Amino acid sequence: MTHPGQLLKQEKLFAGKEMGQNFLSSPPTARMIVDRAGISADSRVLEIGPGLGALTIPIAEKTRQVVVVEKDRRLVSLLRQELENQNIDWVEILNADVMKTDIAALAKDKKLVVISNLPYNISSQILFRLVQKRVYIEKAFLMFQKELADRILASPGKKAYSRLSAVARYAADIECVANVGPAAFFPRPAVESTVLGFYFHTSPGVSIKTEALLFTVIKAAFSKRRKSLKNSLVGQDLGLQKHAIAQALSCAQISPERRAETLTVDEFLSLTRAVQPLLQEAL
Ligand code: SAM
Repeated sequence: MTHPGQLLKQEKLFAGKEMGQNFLSSPPTARMIVDRAGISADSRVLEIGPGLGALTIPIAEKTRQVVVVEKDRRLVSLLRQELENQNIDWVEILNADVMKTDIAALAKDKKLVVISNLPYNISSQILFRLVQKRVYIEKAFLMFQKELADRILASPGKKAYSRLSAVARYAADIECVANVGPAAFFPRPAVESTVLGFYFHTSPGVSIKTEALLFTVIKAAFSKRRKSLKNSLVGQDLGLQKHAIAQALSCAQISPERRAETLTVDEFLSLTRAVQPLLQEAL
């Protein structure tokens, strides 16, 4: 692998902040991430944001079923060249925005293993998208800013427990794979990074409609996280009045004085089931 700094300099390119471009410059770190993803020759891998190929090359050494989605057109020809230098000609390269890519079509008839050193500016949005598309995904190994990874891992009752923690816990078993320091990247980010592994639950748990409402309830509850649920849930997200929220909380046996950050995923689910009939009544 050519050092990203050297490659960019050769081509007179700059890493773009708006695309979260901090390239991995440590081959041992890249190999460790790919090894921990447990890819076999039979795996179909989607890499989001391959950049200059730091992860793509070790992935392609493990399986010939690799598709990568890179938004920055400037990097695509560089990546092609890097892969050619390694005699790798089986990687499918898509120049596209992963937020607009049809993940179901990429999966074909096999669940995907997703690997990414995520663009940090949109890593939460990408995680939400992967959760929504998880029927096509077996597992995902994703690098985040450490602070965000800590929020995703946080359990109910902890200060860092957030909307993202509740949604991620609902959808997957999550493993902390490794912390990675700034020296493993070019350019160096100001912060530490963490790789998390997501093993998506195979059964969806609830219907698509209930799941959409669950995500709205979680969003509404955390939108005013300092307020008690009896107040935070009232408003635009759910469109329910104070008395209806009180009724739903009572039905779900959740104290109206509690805050979002104390609720387990099961309690969010009970609350969602209690809210559902009230929404139908309100129509
Ligand atoms: N995988 C490479 C590595 O580890 O060195 C690059 C990682 S860099 C943190 C993030 C990559 O995602 C960049 O190549 C960037 O251009 C790309 N990217 C940013 N936004 C994207 C999007 N919406 N869709 C696809 N790729 C994106």
